[in-house]
Amino acid sequence: MNLRKLSDQNLHESTLTAAKKEKLSTIELLRHLAEVQRRVLYAEYGHSTLYKYVIYELGYSESESWTRIQAMKLIRISELAEEKIAEGLLTLSNAAEVQKYIQEFNFTNPGQITETINLASQKSHRALVQELDRRAHREKTEKKIVLRKQLLDKMVRLNKLLNADMTELELIEMLLDKEIRECELLSSKRTRTSKNVSSENTRYLPIQVKRTIVIRSQHQCEFRDKNGKRCDERRNLQFDHIKPYALGGKTNEQNIQFLCPAHNQRRMIKTFGLLDRPH
Ligand SMILES: [Zn+2]
Repeated sequence: MNLRKLSDQNLHESTLTAAKKEKLSTIELLRHLAEVQRRVLYAEYGHSTLYKYVIYELGYSESESWTRIQAMKLIRISELAEEKIAEGLLTLSNAAEVQKYIQEFNFTNPGQITETINLASQKSHRALVQELDRRAHREKTEKKIVLRKQLLDKMVRLNKLLNADMTELELIEMLLDKEIRECELLSSKRTRTSKNVSSENTRYLPIQVKRTIVIRSQHQCEFRDKNGKRCDERRNLQFDHIKPYALGGKTNEQNIQFLCPAHNQRRMIKTFGLLDRPH
């Protein structure tokens, strides 16, 4: 289409159509990213995170990738967000801010999520960031606890048994301290009594095997893609049975590899299938 030859009216209409198409294809991209994430498919192409996949396979910049991934996470939990992005009422950058905010404060209440999305649809990016900062500050400084009657009754009973007159907060703190001490004691006992089993027919990984694998891998994920390119991830590496332990795989250097979480998870999916988790 030669745009120069269009009438003013037609040019305007054609621009509207192009903008509409762009918004729909944005949603289409986000849907694709959600499925790539579900399958951990990025691992197959040598990447340890979806973020790296979006940068290196799809060619987006770092900030564009971050925005798209955050927006994708938001549409996974909210149809409203998906509709609003498709209609052009919610920008990707605002969607990303909403997602960052609800993730940070672990919002699971649908009402709260809807309210935040509606807020983001009405504000400029700058105004939204300011508002969410203000709310985040408030969330961080006060944590309210609601104690139900049943729980309060128990506290009164404990106070009587202890012949004490402790406040609710003091009681909670005392019980937490007691529980923490017991857990710490238990875990230190467990480490002292755990035996050094070195048989190959155990899931437990002997320290010598671990050491060999760490040296062999130079503390880098050992996954290689079809072209032999190795994954560059060095964080949170996990020992992985090449032939799964559950299927009779041995626990020795030949059958153990060092993988990043993504490649470990992708292997599980390929071996045992995709677990359909609600998201
Ligand atoms: Zn990896």
